[in-house]
Amino acid sequence: MKNERIVVCGGGLAGMAAALGLRKAGLEVSILAPAYTAMALQPGQYHPRVYALSGASQRFLAHLGVWNLMQAERITPVQAMEVHGDGGGCVTLNAWQDAQDCLAWILESGQMEQALRQALQVFGVPWIEDRFERLEPGLVITAGQQRLQADLIVGADGARSALRAAAGIEHQGREYGDLGLVAHLNAERAHQHTALQWFTGDSILALLPMPDVDGKPQVSMVWSLGQAQAERVLALQGQAQAHYLQSSLRALTGGRLGDVSLRSAVHGFPLTFERSGMVAPGVALVGDAAHRVHPLAGQGLNLGLGDIEELVKTVSLRGPHCSVGDIRMLNRYKRARAEPIAAMRAATDGLYRLFAASGAPASLVRNAGMQLVDRLPWVKRRIIAHAAGVAPGSLLF
Ligand SMILES: Cc1cc2nc3c(=O)[nH]c(=O)nc-3n(C[C@H](O)[C@H](O)[C@H](O)COP(=O)(O)OP(=O)(O)OC[C@H]3O[C@@H](n4cnc5c(N)ncnc54)[C@H](O)[C@@H]3O)c2cc1C
Repeated sequence: MKNERIVVCGGGLAGMAAALGLRKAGLEVSILAPAYTAMALQPGQYHPRVYALSGASQRFLAHLGVWNLMQAERITPVQAMEVHGDGGGCVTLNAWQDAQDCLAWILESGQMEQALRQALQVFGVPWIEDRFERLEPGLVITAGQQRLQADLIVGADGARSALRAAAGIEHQGREYGDLGLVAHLNAERAHQHTALQWFTGDSILALLPMPDVDGKPQVSMVWSLGQAQAERVLALQGQAQAHYLQSSLRALTGGRLGDVSLRSAVHGFPLTFERSGMVAPGVALVGDAAHRVHPLAGQGLNLGLGDIEELVKTVSLRGPHCSVGDIRMLNRYKRARAEPIAAMRAATDGLYRLFAASGAPASLVRNAGMQLVDRLPWVKRRIIAHAAGVAPGSLLF
């Protein structure tokens, strides 16, 4: 059989992990993406994007050989979660309750990017600095008019995937009408490796544990709130923005970590719910090109890494006469991902709707439900096992 070629479109975390996974499985693969530039960080500065990674994702990154390339002191294990409702409901989960070491890890995007980039160089994966533009039979045509032969094209070009559109893969999406504001904060009190979350009815706030800096506890904020309010926060300058966040977060959290102080820029990300048909002959989508979920459970990238693990497995196990672009084989990949993606979509979208519903009865039901879950050790053990990645379809926070 001829040496088949795979082109991965997109050089984000999903694209880099997909190319590395396929290369390590012995396939000929290249990445087509704009040039990668590592963000230069000052001492004590942290990459603006941080992710909560599940146990399953951690094991996959370890299998790819990149986990140990990251600086251990910049990775924070999450040993407990505390989720507050809008009417006194609260669920606390501790890793020890299911005999786990931790529930998740908090990592900077920059750390993962650099480790993946280093591994791709070691494995000699070519990086073609250009952009996907269109498809011709068996060819990828780039914006720079290069013509790349490909038996399989992996779409990792993000939520606005041009490859998905060019391949005619079905796609549906809707906007939540919220922005996710992210920033790093110093806290007065230690986070004790606990991921904290508040569902307030009109916003969802998560404070994720990060390494201490300048002798002070640090947390990463992900605050999903209505677009108009979020834009007002983004428009505030300097001290006005810092004061607004300090007083709002004190009110929302009841001062759970004392006063918090802003120690980075605030960035806003539009939040959408998206699904796609995942495959077409010779094309497979992974990561945000394939699906997007609300970040309230910190699961988008985890789902993307799950796609990649499954795609690498499916392509590696194809028969000797099956091409890497064979649609029957790619449909097996799509079927294998259908259940975990649907379960995560239902869980995140369901939780979002449950807490967005207004009125006293809705609030009573959701907070009573949380109190009930908090009193049922076997339910908590099950959630912890999911979060730690020892059971499929984990929900993190
Ligand atoms: C506020 C917020 C918090 C989140 N927190 C978490 C979390 O805690 N845990 C978690 O698991 N997930 C989280 N997510 C989800 C996570 O950010 C995404 O799922 C993940 O970043 C998607 O990675 P990706 O590589 O698929 O897409 P992207 O990061 O969008 O990468 C796409 C890449 O494709 C390239 N590209 C685009 N067009 C082309 C083209 N035509 N040709 C070639 N290349 C192209 C781009 O340059 C880019 O590098 C969060 C999301 C948000 C919004």
